[in-house]
Amino acid sequence: MATMMMATSCSKTAQKADGNDDFNYNVDRFADIEVLRYKVPDFENLTLNQKILVYYLTEAAQWGRDILWDQNYARNLDIRNMLEAVYTNYDGDKNDADYKAFETYIKQVWFGNGIHHHYSTDKFIPAFSREFIEGQLAKLPADKAVADSQTLLDIIFDPARDAKRVNQASGQDLIATSACNFYENGLTQAEVEAYYESIKKPNDETPISYGLNTRLKKVDGKVVEEPYKLGGLYGDAIAHIVENLDSAANYAENDAQRQIIRSLIDYYTTGDLATFDRYSIEWAEDTASQVDFINGFIESYGDPLGLTGSWESIVNFKNNEASERTETLSSNAQWFEDNSPVDAKFKKDKVKGVSAKVITAAILAGDAYPATPIGINLPNANWIRAQHGSKSVTLENITQAYDAASQGSGFNEEFVIDQPTIDLLDKYLFITDNLHTDLHECLGHGSGKVMPGREDALKAHGSTIEEARADLFALYYLADPKLVELGLLDNPEAYKAEYYKYILNGLMTQLMRIEPGKDVEEAHMRNRKIIAEWAFEHGKDNNVIELVERDGKTFVKINDYEALRGLFGELLAEIQRIRSTGDYAAAEAMVEKYGVKVDPALHKEVLERYATLDIAPYKGFVNPVYTPVRDKDGRITDVTVSYTEGYPEQMLRLSRDYNGLKAK
Ligand code: ZN
Repeated sequence: MATMMMATSCSKTAQKADGNDDFNYNVDRFADIEVLRYKVPDFENLTLNQKILVYYLTEAAQWGRDILWDQNYARNLDIRNMLEAVYTNYDGDKNDADYKAFETYIKQVWFGNGIHHHYSTDKFIPAFSREFIEGQLAKLPADKAVADSQTLLDIIFDPARDAKRVNQASGQDLIATSACNFYENGLTQAEVEAYYESIKKPNDETPISYGLNTRLKKVDGKVVEEPYKLGGLYGDAIAHIVENLDSAANYAENDAQRQIIRSLIDYYTTGDLATFDRYSIEWAEDTASQVDFINGFIESYGDPLGLTGSWESIVNFKNNEASERTETLSSNAQWFEDNSPVDAKFKKDKVKGVSAKVITAAILAGDAYPATPIGINLPNANWIRAQHGSKSVTLENITQAYDAASQGSGFNEEFVIDQPTIDLLDKYLFITDNLHTDLHECLGHGSGKVMPGREDALKAHGSTIEEARADLFALYYLADPKLVELGLLDNPEAYKAEYYKYILNGLMTQLMRIEPGKDVEEAHMRNRKIIAEWAFEHGKDNNVIELVERDGKTFVKINDYEALRGLFGELLAEIQRIRSTGDYAAAEAMVEKYGVKVDPALHKEVLERYATLDIAPYKGFVNPVYTPVRDKDGRITDVTVSYTEGYPEQMLRLSRDYNGLKAK
């Protein structure tokens, strides 16, 4: 599971490790996107072996990019090739309105890893004319000519065609109405669900993650799975990944880590999901290595049924100093489990091996790039988490970059109700926001238990409910005196900063990410809306949260923070019950009542107030560039890191140097 940045624009007082640096965080700005860069502090302090290990792992990470593009939509790679051919051959006026619109469009497509928005999953609408791009295509030299360009242009310019990558609207056929490429065209949701029902073993206590690494298609009227593996689907890109993993294994820090890399190679070679489980267990149990990575088909947010994993990779190394915070939390995991407000029968008697650390990301790739999570908790298989524990990480160099880039945005002055609250946020939001992520990842996802056979019972609402559970666990405990006792906070009132921001975001400011007239769809946004709206409604009698109007503007006012904590506890108990028992009807009612519908007047107001601030609703990153330094015999003697590459330059380099799959 992954935690995305919550209010990407909420300004906080940065606690930068290195003071007022002149590092250039801001790289590019277009449409609703801002591209940033991040630092990799202490890379130079790794040993040479560790640097080389990181280098090969980053190579393995880059080679998976095109897998994700193809998973997102079957014609994405062809469209990218066409757009890049036009972009790199253009020699006309760069201030031409059509060209400028085209430039914005290609930047959006790069950011979305395809023609759909990374977050809303709506198809991008081009603002340039079809005549413009047809004229440019006609001018391409013969060796760059684009085959089938009329079909590709039809896809781009027909707004109704493949309009949504992941459709979550209840009551519709989610497979037939989603443009993602996990299911062959023509398959229905009923056929897919029937297929998986037919292959699942009854009462299996250690089920494989069905469908995680396969595309479904129909052969002679029968549904069959086509695995992503060496020699199979995406085999060409996987061969490059495996080759670099193989090189990385030579520089592993220890035998356990070498074995993890070998198991991952076995899995890519066979496509066998039981091997993936073995790898996941070895990975979860390795807490000794400093360098770590994920690489594979991991999160299933991109599949409307939540089964197939989108390819991603993150390479990282442990930030030893900051990890003391999360180690304190995880070493007290049982205390948090025992004292949580959920029904005793849904608690774990023994919380196993919740490992947690703060990491420095070295590269973001696949589904984690350019938009990236700030926290990760894996593996996703619940039985592995229960029996072998899970690893939870916070990407602190990423949160630090977000924070540094948002200084002085004017957000707090526009949306926060008064100066004392602004001061509270300035003082405590950075630390409580990081602690919220730690609690969510280290303890929230790992807590509680699910009744046998109820694992997938929440279906399309599973992600929303699971994220709500982890968020509520974090919110509830952020206000607990235990955190002060453990030395994680120095003021028992500090939690109010995160509470204020959470409610403000859930009730109001996250709406800036939604286009007028649309509903909330993404799982994390739904969960935040559910929590904020539910607390607002259930606290009405006691006036816990108030919406105050001033000069025609709406402000969130929290009158009783302690009562709000009580409400979070109550809702946590109910959400845990829904998750534990797999109460689909209750999950659906909760999502539909609190998580979807937007008040159009408030929505309009938020968008108008945002527009005055010029803050990008979404942010993402370019990666640093790693270059091996070799001696005359070709041996690597050092690895250097540079931060100068721009956004289009990086995208074009990746398309050129890591095109693991040939366009169709
Ligand atoms: Zn989460």
